[in-house]
Parts: sequence; C-alpha cells; structure tokens
Amino acid sequence: MVVLHYTAMQSAAAARDTLCNPANEVSAHYLIAESGEVMSLVPEALRAWHAGAGRWGAVTDVNSHSIGIEIANDGFSPFAAPQMDALADLLKGINARWGIRPERVIGHSDMAPGRKIDPGARFDWRRLARMGFAVWPEEVASENPEFFAPRMRSFGYTATDDADLLLSVFRMRFRPWATGPLDETDAGMITDLARRFPVDVNAAST
Ligand SMILES: [Zn+2]
Repeated sequence: MVVLHYTAMQSAAAARDTLCNPANEVSAHYLIAESGEVMSLVPEALRAWHAGAGRWGAVTDVNSHSIGIEIANDGFSPFAAPQMDALADLLKGINARWGIRPERVIGHSDMAPGRKIDPGARFDWRRLARMGFAVWPEEVASENPEFFAPRMRSFGYTATDDADLLLSVFRMRFRPWATGPLDETDAGMITDLARRFPVDVNAAST
C-alpha cells in the first residue's frame, strides 16, 4: 500500500534534511516539494520508517508493506496544484509497478488514528480519487448510524474501536466540512466505500 504524509515543516529542504539525518530514525521513499519536485530518498523495494505504530485492515507492520510519500506542507496551507500533479504522476508509476489498487492509497491518520493527523483536512482526496489514485464515496444513501463502526472496519479502519476517534478520522478525510454527532450521511458514505472496497482480510498481517 501507499501511505501519504505531510511534513509539517516550513520548507521541503528542511524536511529533506530531517529525513536524511540518521539520528532522527525517520525516513520516507519520496518527498514532494511545493514546486512539484519529487525527491527519491529510499528505493521502493526497501523499507522506510515513515508509518510507525498502527494498522490498516489486517496489516499491522505498515512500514514493511508500504511506500511512504512525504508531501511538503506546513499542515495548514492548501496543497499546491503542481504538487498534486506530481503526486498523481508518482502514484501512477508506483501503483503500476507494485499492483497497488486505489483503495490501498491511504493517509497516515487512517492507519494511526489519534496519533497522527496527516495529510490533514486540507488534503484533496476527492481530486486524487477523480484521477484514479484514491477512492471517494459516490452513491451515498442515508444509512443507520449504528452501521458506521462495523463498516469502518470493513473498509480498513481496524486501528481503533473508539467511536469518537473513528468519526474524527473519517471526517478529516471524507467530510472535513461536517460538524456535530455521527449521522446518517457519515454512515451512508462509509457504507458505499465498504461495499465497493472491502479490505482484504487475508492480506499479510506481519
Ligand atoms: Zn505522517
């Protein structure tokens, strides 16, 4: 799978220095600058240390099963168009080389809810999905909120059972404009995703 991050630093150069300093014990396969420049930092076939503790579907050792992409962003600003275009180009190659399906392109927050919030509410998942490199709910019907948690699991959110955390991580990615308690639209959106993209429970778990 692919895990997307933001750097939460002032510049791509600063992020590159951090990612290339062994003392920090953190690395990623790619770093994409605001300009769209793509820096290759770790070969795709090697493990990088970008994901940390967490889980997606049956995968608990995410570092050993993923390519990590750091997107230079301070955590508050919109992501620049050249940067999003460069990300799409990069994902096109990665997904083809490794047979990664769009639903296996996730955010750091998706696999580590409560611990990580990147790539954050400003990241345009819908745009990425429209280009075929991520997924987005399409045919949304109202659904009983009691189905929200089980369908979150079916889609891949297996890292937590905490109801508040599940709602916040879901909305950060799929419904950042929404407020208030869990409702029938949240449940409807995840129902559509879980129906079209059920997570592979037989995927490698270590
Ligand atoms: Zn991250």
